[in-house]
Amino acid sequence: MRHFQYIDGELTAEDVPLRAIAEAVGTPAYVYSTATLERHFTVFREAFGNLPVHIAFAVKANTNRAVLATLARLGAGADTVSEGEIRRALAAGIPASGIVFAGVGKTDAELAFAVGIGVRQINVESAQELDRLSAIAAAAGREQAVCFRVNPLIGAGGHAKITTGHGASKFGVTLAEAESLYARAVTLPGVRPEGLSVHIGSQIVDFAPLEAAYRRMVETVLRLRAAGHTVRRLDLGGGLAATYRDDGTPGPDLPAYGAMVRSVVEGLDLEIELEPGRMIAANAGVLLSRAVVTKQSQERSFLVLDAAMNDLIRPALYDAFHEILPLREAPADRPVAAADIVGPVCETGDTFAEHRQMPPVEPGDLVAIMSAGAYGFTMASSYNSRLLPAEVIVNGDRWSVVRPRQTWDELFGTETLPDWL
Ligand SMILES: *Cc1c(COP(=O)(O)O)cnc(C)c1O
Repeated sequence: MRHFQYIDGELTAEDVPLRAIAEAVGTPAYVYSTATLERHFTVFREAFGNLPVHIAFAVKANTNRAVLATLARLGAGADTVSEGEIRRALAAGIPASGIVFAGVGKTDAELAFAVGIGVRQINVESAQELDRLSAIAAAAGREQAVCFRVNPLIGAGGHAKITTGHGASKFGVTLAEAESLYARAVTLPGVRPEGLSVHIGSQIVDFAPLEAAYRRMVETVLRLRAAGHTVRRLDLGGGLAATYRDDGTPGPDLPAYGAMVRSVVEGLDLEIELEPGRMIAANAGVLLSRAVVTKQSQERSFLVLDAAMNDLIRPALYDAFHEILPLREAPADRPVAAADIVGPVCETGDTFAEHRQMPPVEPGDLVAIMSAGAYGFTMASSYNSRLLPAEVIVNGDRWSVVRPRQTWDELFGTETLPDWL
């Protein structure tokens, strides 16, 4: 079941024509589908059968409070990497007991905040962090559950900038280091070691590297247990791919992933945690945009949109592919031409697609940049003093603006001049 499809020649989100939203809210605007979020979360959970799993949505993929609240109602926890993300998760109704706090450079203030509200788990990434956390938690009279993020020295993922599990990566500690940190943590006040965590990359379709990483972690769990330690949890991270191309490229086989996880942890009596982001949210969102101008250079045809790299940076940052569809379905006999689809920002990298075959789009026409629900709005900026786009969520035939477009006052109204000007 697809929730973004043409109905009577108009691209819709569930039962709402996207044109109605674009005309009411303006463009660029992000639109999310409740039914898609719910379906992805449910299909993911069901892949693990009767294995009890804690699914912590990776909030950095989509921080909108309505999106988080939609997932929270299904029982999702949150995987967070900053105090701001923890605050958003709480504001969306995710209890502290469902929140995992990760990240390579947590500040004392962030650790104190997380300990103070009693997050489910803090994933520790260095000896220094362990010592700081111990001191902070002990001073607060708390005992904080921790896992150690390991770097299994296995990389995976769709692009060098989203691969985290290799030797040159800043993330995690080696398995050997995790073992010695674990033993150390047992002797420290304020912290209670619970297990290990891993996240080796993103946009993963082939599970072999993931399985190898998980099996290495299990070996370490067994060694820790043999040394007399209690190990209860294994946090297996996120990283499963979303399908960005509409050409039949298969996405990750979720039942196969679930079966692999079950076989790796079988009989070990471990609580399993998962942190999907992209897989849940990417195809639950689109970015609506209006064509501003078409032009020819000596060699190329350009379609210039009113959305730009500041709204959706994935093509510029990761060479990412996004389908771009006109909101009004093109008749099958309409000629197709190749154009570079670009934004108005003053950077050559402000390109959504090169040589894209598509039916001609005229100035004023509306288009949807597909699969924009993950790492879309969350990476948006106001570069070129462009207002942050609006965000809308659809549920059946209802829709609601869940973040209005930024205003000029919000853009620069808090800036002040020094007294010499
Ligand atoms: C980014 C991240 C995730 C989510 O990754 P996806 O590819 O979006 O599933 C999960 N865990 C950690 C630690 C991350 O940094």
